[in-house]
Amino acid sequence: MPEFKSPSVDLPMEKRMLKGGVILGYFAFIKKSYGKEGLNQCIEALGFGPKDVKAEKTYPRVNSDKVLQWLSENKGMDATRHCGAYTVMHLGILSYLVRFATWEKILHRAKESFRGAFLFGKMTIDLDEPNNKAVAKLMDVTSIKESCNAWQGVVEGAMRLKRANGVVTKTKCQIDGDPYCEYQMTWE
Ligand SMILES: [Zn+2]
Repeated sequence: MPEFKSPSVDLPMEKRMLKGGVILGYFAFIKKSYGKEGLNQCIEALGFGPKDVKAEKTYPRVNSDKVLQWLSENKGMDATRHCGAYTVMHLGILSYLVRFATWEKILHRAKESFRGAFLFGKMTIDLDEPNNKAVAKLMDVTSIKESCNAWQGVVEGAMRLKRANGVVTKTKCQIDGDPYCEYQMTWE
């Protein structure tokens, strides 16, 4: 089992940055799911919208948390999971990778693509290829339940594109006091 040595543990909140592409993915999900009107309600509530965000610029994590919190408060907690799945299936840094790579390759490269979008926290993937199993661990990535659910959705979305018969189970959560969030994947 790989050990986490996260340099980001002591990183102050305002220095936890992520790529705008992540936030744009969330807005795209809201527009797709709830129409222009839904998106406008979100923009009004948050005070910022897609026009204020550039895909390759970095923004404090709190901005993406705000979008996910708006989602859970207005559309239910499940929406955050669907939102995560949408971002990986339809756009963003991960989707390119997912579309053109094998499932095993995606898992091998997940760490790099994670680092391309998230400038804090740590991800590891333990791949058990012969048994069609993998375990993803995220440390110091999520600060709210909504974000953890979105990550579960990301894993589910990636799997849905490549492995129709796959299951993702959340087995640990840092929000609940575990040392990291853990998602177990199995597939046929
Ligand atoms: Zn979690």
